[in-house]
Amino acid sequence: PVLEGATASDSGVQVVVRIRPPCQVEGEEAGEDGRGSECVRKMANNSVAIQGQDFTFDAVADAASTQEDVFKLVGLPLVENCLSGFNSSIFAYGQTGSGKTYTMWGPLSALSGGSMGCERGLTPRVFEQLFSRIKEEQAKHMDKELTYNCTCSFLEIYNEQITDLLDPLQKNLQVREDVRTACVYVESLTKEFVFSVNDVNQLLVKGLANRRTGSTSANVDSSRSHCVFTCVIKSESNNLEDGSNCIRISRINLVDLAGSERQKLTHAAGDRLKEAGNINRSLSALGNLINILAEISQSGKQRHVPYRDSKLTFLLQESLGGNAMLAMICAVSPSERCKSETLSTLRFAQRAK
Ligand code: ADP
Ligand code: MG
Repeated sequence: PVLEGATASDSGVQVVVRIRPPCQVEGEEAGEDGRGSECVRKMANNSVAIQGQDFTFDAVADAASTQEDVFKLVGLPLVENCLSGFNSSIFAYGQTGSGKTYTMWGPLSALSGGSMGCERGLTPRVFEQLFSRIKEEQAKHMDKELTYNCTCSFLEIYNEQITDLLDPLQKNLQVREDVRTACVYVESLTKEFVFSVNDVNQLLVKGLANRRTGSTSANVDSSRSHCVFTCVIKSESNNLEDGSNCIRISRINLVDLAGSERQKLTHAAGDRLKEAGNINRSLSALGNLINILAEISQSGKQRHVPYRDSKLTFLLQESLGGNAMLAMICAVSPSERCKSETLSTLRFAQRAK
């Protein structure tokens, strides 16, 4: 079923909840009818029920929703916004195992080999749409010469340190602000030109292979780091009649956040302990910032926005707030065992509204 478009959101942040299908083990726990062990259910296009409580968002996707549905809901508007010259970001938030990575990039097999598997995630779909819209725009304007150039970077924030995923020997990169232009950038981060979806997919595959793995944790995946894929789109239009020239720059950020679960500190010491605190720093700074932006947009009053509280929010400063478009996909597992983390994700999602 096609999901309905999002309604106008209060905070300017589009909040979408995605309930992933039960995995095999969870399905077996559920018993004969395949139900019973699900702790959260979609009730309408924009609401869920958990523990007899209802929560309302801009939209809710569940097991019946495809990657294509999620793209139409958040990816399409993002591309249009970006072509109009505004910065746009999509974040995936949720506990480890809830479907963030699946949503943002999709399975690696759907990215490599050039096959356009239907499981490919938001990012490849966003770039398919972007390149096809760029062609359309260029064909539409015969009176001007329209050129676009797109450069991508891919980085990981782990323990408040930035690593270049396209050149992992570059560790601990610094976020700088150009005092003259007030532009924020990551010093010496690799930037690659992309001309096709295939170029983008290759960068994704390369970067994801360089993600860190937590060796002593139960999750051998990269659940403790934030992963940020950014594309800067520069369009230059030359009016052939009067010779005037216009340059527009906008950026797309696609962010796979670290798992939102409370870090278990029982056996953590030294680096692990420091790491746990720092993961919460970027995530809670982001949550805090989104709450403040929601407040500003509701009250119309100005407030100090603490962008510098974490690497993540500092680095994305120009894409958070102002005219930027922000979408938050809050991923949850349907499993009864995940109930308390699911509740906490839904509360986070609610606060972002
Ligand atoms: P996270 O990145 O939040 O830790 P993953 O994206 O790795 O979670 O998802 C956990 C598992 O569930 C993976 O095996 C993934 O393929 C599967 N999965 C997640 N969402 C879906 C979905 N919507 N449809 C099918 N499988 C999914
Ligand atoms: Mg993941």
